[in-house]
Amino acid sequence: MSGRVTLVGGGPGDADLLTIAAVRALATADVVLYDRLAPHEALADLAPGADLVDVGKRPGHHALPQSGIEALLVEHARAGRHAVRLKGGDPYVLGRGGEEVLACRRAGVPVAVVPGITSAIAVPAAAGIPLTHRGVSHLFTVVSGHAPLTEDELRHLAQLGGTLVVLMGVGTLPMLASGLARHGLVPSTPVAIIERGHRPDQRTTIADLGGIVTAAGVVGVASPAVVVVGEVVRLAHDGDRSAAGTMARAAALAEAAVLAEAGA
Ligand code: SAH
Repeated sequence: MSGRVTLVGGGPGDADLLTIAAVRALATADVVLYDRLAPHEALADLAPGADLVDVGKRPGHHALPQSGIEALLVEHARAGRHAVRLKGGDPYVLGRGGEEVLACRRAGVPVAVVPGITSAIAVPAAAGIPLTHRGVSHLFTVVSGHAPLTEDELRHLAQLGGTLVVLMGVGTLPMLASGLARHGLVPSTPVAIIERGHRPDQRTTIADLGGIVTAAGVVGVASPAVVVVGEVVRLAHDGDRSAAGTMARAAALAEAAVLAEAGA
């Protein structure tokens, strides 16, 4: 028996957003080590032959440390099993997938990676926000908000323009907002926070840079959430009442951009 490991990107949480390769890997899995953010509810059907192991954080339980996950993957593969590591989003976007691949390689265990739909793009999309839009933004930057950004990073990001996407950014939102403003990003820049994207209880909160911390506090924004900073937020169209004013301005802005381009 030849054991192996497949790292599978599970997308933002809706099983419909798994790739065909992901579904195939799960179908042949003997054991699945899954994260809380991966689409785990459907696993019993998708991986009928597999032991299902939750290695993510649950209330009252600690997450398995990264080294423990890597040791488990290697152990299962060495025992001749096909171990699938199902991760939220894409394994290589702020997901420590690279570390797990290295651990397998070091142990001489065959390992393959199935890319996934990253929440960095798909969660804003669920709120109707395109990260790029002709005439509005032609670039986006994805950063981790796990730790506060440095002054240098804030300065560069404030000057870069385009769209800023922050993952794991709920806890550091006040530092992000004040830091970007301190380095010259205009206070009227729109910001969206999309919680639990592609889940039935998805919620979007929109305000400008000057007001986003208060707005997030009022509604009690919680992780997991994606923060989007930039003019593309004006294109949001998920019908949230809280976003109505911004939506109206968005329409005007998009129209103005189209008119300017037509006139140019
Ligand atoms: N590898 C993952 C990201 C892991 S970091 C990917 O490519 O998507 C975890 C962060 O991703 C969360 O803190 C949150 O910012 C974001 N995230 C993942 N799924 C999400 C979802 N369904 N809704 C909102 N944010 C999500």
